Amino acid sequence: MSDLTADAVATEHSGAGNPAAPGGGRTVAAAVPPSLVARLAAGVTATGEPDLVETAAPLTGERLASLPQSTPADVEVAFQLARRAQAAWAALPVRRRAAVLLRFHDLLLRRQDEVLDLIQAETGKARLHAFEEVLAVAMAARHYGRAAHGYLKDKRRGGALPVLTHAVEARRPKGVIGHISPWNYPLELSIGDALPAFVAGNAVVNKPDTQTALTALWARELLVEAGLPADLWQVVIGDGPVIGPAVVEHADYVSFTGSTRTGRDVAQRAAARLVGASLELGGKNAMLVLADADLDAAAAGAVRACFSSAGQLCISIERLLVHRSVADEFLERFAARTRALRLGGGLAYGADMGSLVSVRQLETTTRHVDEAVKAGATVVAGGRARPDLGPFFFEPTILDGVTPDMAVCAEETFGPVVSLYRFDTDEEAVAAANSTPYGLNSSVWTRDLRRGRTVAARLRTGTVNVNEAYAAAYGSVGSPMGGMGDSGLGRRHGAEGILRFTEAQTIATQRLLPIAPSFGLDDKQFAAVMTGGLRALKALRFK
Ligand code: NAD
Repeated sequence: MSDLTADAVATEHSGAGNPAAPGGGRTVAAAVPPSLVARLAAGVTATGEPDLVETAAPLTGERLASLPQSTPADVEVAFQLARRAQAAWAALPVRRRAAVLLRFHDLLLRRQDEVLDLIQAETGKARLHAFEEVLAVAMAARHYGRAAHGYLKDKRRGGALPVLTHAVEARRPKGVIGHISPWNYPLELSIGDALPAFVAGNAVVNKPDTQTALTALWARELLVEAGLPADLWQVVIGDGPVIGPAVVEHADYVSFTGSTRTGRDVAQRAAARLVGASLELGGKNAMLVLADADLDAAAAGAVRACFSSAGQLCISIERLLVHRSVADEFLERFAARTRALRLGGGLAYGADMGSLVSVRQLETTTRHVDEAVKAGATVVAGGRARPDLGPFFFEPTILDGVTPDMAVCAEETFGPVVSLYRFDTDEEAVAAANSTPYGLNSSVWTRDLRRGRTVAARLRTGTVNVNEAYAAAYGSVGSPMGGMGDSGLGRRHGAEGILRFTEAQTIATQRLLPIAPSFGLDDKQFAAVMTGGLRALKALRFK
């Protein structure tokens, strides 16, 4: 490995604006030594003499890990092992399974520095943004650790005939969940969705993105330390278009997070097998700044909304809709905060924004900005790649004067680029926010909370944050999170986030009388008695 530290690269920068952040002085190589890589790589389900795949650290471009690749045959093995382990796991009481999540919660908080290093090494994001993943996963572990019993317990339901029919709705695990996750939030998106699947009694075969497989493997190791039977969580690694379909091919249910394009393919394959799928996909999220908003708070919120994880966040904001009367003042404050952001890649707290993950993300970001500028948009802040800081750094960028013919207007950039648009009425702002096929997240800023919630109700997105960027809704783990329209199907978090991993089963027990002519009633008399009974049940407001 190179002995170049991420910090050394960052601190070489001496230009104006976007100052480099101080770093922690540790190299990626020191934080992720070959012994750690080898230990984690042993958790991949790959038999025989597997082909190896190399990953690199986005912060510096240096070699990071060499990992065994699974074949489609290995995926089959993974499902067999998982299926075998699942039966015994499902037989445990829910509280025993939930206790594993609660122990995991404590271990994660205690050992967070280990995984913060891994996340930073694999994604290049700033440590604060890596910590958001620890926060999100701890919240999900606590929530499902405490609430799973209530979600999963048998529920008494009204029977066909009062008193005579006893009906119970029970929840059974689906079996083995095929779980495909992307690189952008590697801890949250590999384990966050797996936790409710496990506590509901399932096994999981996870295909993380190869770039961020170490983080997923670390999470698996920690969950096993917390008490999860090791075979219950299989990790397979390989080319998405090869290994992804193999996972869908064997799964009893599919949980997918990634792009809308891949999500459509996954949905079709799952549908052909008649297995369910939840799909957490892309977005082109809008933030509305109403005329009465606290502009300082909104400007600070916009920085979080647009530049967390360098904009590689499905719920981040790429469209800022600002009331014309305050647009110039807001833009001035937002731009000042944006220009002051410290870019850097040290494996320590201090930087406000890190690197993009790959050349692919850098190319899309650069293309969206360059094309927009060529077509007449104005760069208010940022606008350039920063190879002086690391191979994939790009400045946090604000564009003004963007028009609908520009790609940046409607396509997901998934980078640190936001465009500002002006509006005159709430009506216009709502229409503009809803003018995209996506529907993932949005944000409304106003001093009038009631008005904020009224506007929120008119936005066609799965989550809306009032006076916050995204963390208020995402962190409310008892409430569902997910996308409308092209942003997906199904929800994570809350009841929906766990019940999707179960099959509903109704067990109805009939007592004393059959639901059929009896006691000497002929068919016609039975029909008359039942007709009277139905009228009485409605009159008694029976549900
Ligand atoms: P992607 O669709 O390219 O890849 C996601 C995962 O799918 C990876 O593990 C990949 O290897 C795998 N994959 C690739 N081809 C596959 C196939 N044919 N069948 C099955 N699996 C396949 O997405 P990406 O570019 O890595 O991730 C970024 C995208 O994810 C963005 O669009 C972002 O908005 C979205 N995302 C959404 C959420 C959410 O909760 N809605 C969260 C994070 C990211």
